[in-house]
Amino acid sequence: METRELGKTGERVPIVGMGTWAIGNSSGDQRREEIKALQRGIELGMKFIDTAEIYGHGRSESLVGDAIREYRGEVFLATKVAPENFAYDDVIRSCETSIQRLGVKFVDLYQLHWPNPRIPIQETMRAMEQLVATGKTRYVGVSNFSVEQTMQAQESLPRSEIVSNQVRYSITSRSIETDLIPFCNKERITVIAYSPLDTGNIPISRIPKEMLTKYEMTPAQLMLNWVTFQEPIITIPKAGRLSHVEENARSVDTRISQSDYNALSKKFS
Ligand code: NAP
Repeated sequence: METRELGKTGERVPIVGMGTWAIGNSSGDQRREEIKALQRGIELGMKFIDTAEIYGHGRSESLVGDAIREYRGEVFLATKVAPENFAYDDVIRSCETSIQRLGVKFVDLYQLHWPNPRIPIQETMRAMEQLVATGKTRYVGVSNFSVEQTMQAQESLPRSEIVSNQVRYSITSRSIETDLIPFCNKERITVIAYSPLDTGNIPISRIPKEMLTKYEMTPAQLMLNWVTFQEPIITIPKAGRLSHVEENARSVDTRISQSDYNALSKKFS
């Protein structure tokens, strides 16, 4: 699996990781499948797992915890604090609760899930710095932040760097191309593209068949290959089904050419 540097950390992460929204709400066979899917993904190199305290009210984190028990040393673990918990004490408590649910000693990346204009970003970031200082998280990230909000967040974080911004991006959802991607590229902030498969609405009929044949890719693989083409971007397709995880893990084995990338970008613009 190809890797990229996370922010300016010197640490490398896989360009295709695993998302876990809507995972962990089930029991029995489905729960076993979701655990197996995540474990298989780790074995195939998708060692970046994204979750959040609000996913299934903690059930996604608990399931991830069960899945990674034997793999903790190999996995880069990212979770998120919900905007209603952005007051100082709440951030600290949320992170500690997530750590407990995940069954780990620390998380690798702690992200602010959405901006919350009702709580001063300085207060939230003071808590994030405290979490870094106490070893509860290694890195700080944001999610769904505009360029301006990312800059404000960075200014409120004097002792650490914002290493990532997790935002929606796919071949059919391109609004971040005008300003956020160039900004993150320049500042060396990793863009974590969420919903890269358009939440499952894969535009199969619009994807050129000759390109799928040329690269021996499925439509989903081509979408993931496209979305991770540019330097600052990694992605986290949902990873709850074994067959999809295996398919997605192979999506960047070969790279599409620059001219095919350009042609696809134009077709969907
Ligand atoms: P997504 O990954 O674009 O799409 C998920 C859908 O695609 C599911 O229905 C899944 O089906 C299907 N799928 C997965 N692999 C496939 C394949 N190879 N072929 C065909 N279908 C495939 O959407 P998402 O779950 O919204 O986004 C991914 C992750 O991003 C989330 O899990 C979450 O971690 C994160 N996220 C973050 C935010 C945020 O605000 N920060 C918001 C949304 C999502 P199966 O379930 O059957 O595999």
